[in-house]
Amino acid sequence: MKVSYMEEFDVVIVGGGMAGLSAGVFLGRAGVHTCLLDGTESSLRRVERVNNYIGFPDGVGGTELLERSREQAARFGVRVSDESVSSIAPEAPGFVVKTGTSAFGCRFVILASNKRTDLATGLGLSLGGHGGRFVAVDADGQTAVPGCFATGRITGIPSQAVIAAGDGARVAIAIIQQIRGGYYVDHDT
Ligand SMILES: Cc1cc2nc3c(=O)[nH]c(=O)nc-3n(C[C@H](O)[C@H](O)[C@H](O)COP(=O)(O)OP(=O)(O)OC[C@H]3O[C@@H](n4cnc5c(N)ncnc54)[C@H](O)[C@@H]3O)c2cc1C
Repeated sequence: MKVSYMEEFDVVIVGGGMAGLSAGVFLGRAGVHTCLLDGTESSLRRVERVNNYIGFPDGVGGTELLERSREQAARFGVRVSDESVSSIAPEAPGFVVKTGTSAFGCRFVILASNKRTDLATGLGLSLGGHGGRFVAVDADGQTAVPGCFATGRITGIPSQAVIAAGDGARVAIAIIQQIRGGYYVDHDT
């Protein structure tokens, strides 16, 4: 399908599970112009009660946790859209991310798409780890393609929602530090 125009963002996040949404909250709060595109197929949506996510002593519905996190990201200015990404192509100085109907230009892209690794391999990244289905990242969450980060289960971290959320925050902070240059924390006082 022909794309009529391209919107520009600092960061496009592919995937709206806990990793992508948490990254979105931190990027949004830092004033980084961010778009999150989500196929709404997080495995958490099928979990009736998540009992090990810190802060919810009585548990929380998986869908409720995702929806509340979406609301939080949107509150801080992240554009959250239910769209499946079909391709990511490097285009200096960053990337062009395409869905069926739209295109988004960005300086940084974050892969938070869990089992969907085709976008990573499309960028030339090889898969490894247990079962050969994970993307390798450095300490900041950056892949072998500069400007392309990955977070959450796609990187092979343990399959726990709270770990995915923490990892998303870590990767967002690394990107914020690259943009601003220097140490960054997001502390309310
Ligand atoms: C049955 C089951 C029960 C579980 N129960 C628990 C539990 O009780 N507690 C717990 O801590 N963990 C649980 N988990 C694990 C937990 O769901 C995962 O560890 C966690 O969801 C990983 O988060 P993520 O953000 O990396 O990926 P996901 O939550 O899987 O999110 C990935 C998102 O990326 C989107 N996506 C993929 N490709 C594209 C694309 N091309 N374009 C746009 N979007 C895309 C998907 O639609 C999805 O929304 C369970 C998992 C399963 C399968």
